Amino acid sequence: MLVVMERNATPELVARVCEEIQKMGLKAHPMEGTQRTAIGVTGNDGQVDSDRILTLKGVRDILRITPSYKLVSREHKPEDTIVTVGNASIGGREFAVMAGPCSVENRDQCLTIAEKVAASGAKIFRGGAFKPRTSPYSFQGLGEKGLEILAEVREKFGLVIVTEAMDTETLDMVASYTDIVQIGARNMQNYSLLKKAGRADKPVLLKRGISATLDELLMAAEYVMAEGNENVILCERGVRSASNHSHNVLDLSAVPFVKKYSHLPIIADPSHGTGSRDRVMPLSRAALAAGADGLLIEVHHEPSKALSDAAQAISPEDFEGLMKVMRQMAPVIDRTLP
Ligand code: PEP
Ligand code: MN
Repeated sequence: MLVVMERNATPELVARVCEEIQKMGLKAHPMEGTQRTAIGVTGNDGQVDSDRILTLKGVRDILRITPSYKLVSREHKPEDTIVTVGNASIGGREFAVMAGPCSVENRDQCLTIAEKVAASGAKIFRGGAFKPRTSPYSFQGLGEKGLEILAEVREKFGLVIVTEAMDTETLDMVASYTDIVQIGARNMQNYSLLKKAGRADKPVLLKRGISATLDELLMAAEYVMAEGNENVILCERGVRSASNHSHNVLDLSAVPFVKKYSHLPIIADPSHGTGSRDRVMPLSRAALAAGADGLLIEVHHEPSKALSDAAQAISPEDFEGLMKVMRQMAPVIDRTLP
């Protein structure tokens, strides 16, 4: 950590800040510059309450040198984490594709979509049984009945299942049916849910919060890992912005950032990231090119009739086309696609 003093800070003020730093059990290293003094702080384990220093007289700013996340960081683990579930793997050379409807609506719908996405090469089937909806009057999902349908999809097609756990009350139930537990954007900072997911024996797909910074996303992953669950997959699903051309803005710069600072895999979700089906293909191409470890794509056999997120659902035929393009592009950046 580096404490930057005001330009006019007197030697007495610098000394007082150094004293305060020492009182916190840390070492202070004042460095006098031509414009101002900076104080290097060493001996901290990332737990320092920097606000205590920031409010001292003469202090202008505090720069953190080491991020406070640990287990998720590449410094902690230099090699990429590869999450293996059934015959799918996320984070290795293989580009992982999760596809399926936004919501599990009924058995026929899921079996129809699952058969098609599996035939196109998707190994992971998605579908929400518990749906976080903006309106309490919108379709809320089938609950446990939906989980049973997902389990049947796994049996029938050998697909790996990912579905959302919305709260601590139902997390264990969701985890008992699914292969990967999804924590949705709205819950990215639900710390009790993150901790409980960290104690589950299933990998976690953690979606970026609607206006979360990447440090906040990595900190949320740290919560899961701190409880002992090392299998975390991050997901860039778009963030809110001032622009009105798109539901969300898919922030693909998140991919190289996360890759640099963390060993965890990160996939992209161009469906929620744009909210429009016509943008799913171009942003899927971009995500693969940016180095994402996979995609989450919403597919519906009758897209415009979907009970949730209809505007972004693509047809199974368009999904097949998308997979063909991914398969052509993958070798260019040394990735494979089944
Ligand atoms: C979803 O995956 O259907 C979903 C609700 O996603 P998000 O949490 O990113 O909005
Ligand atoms: Mn959705």
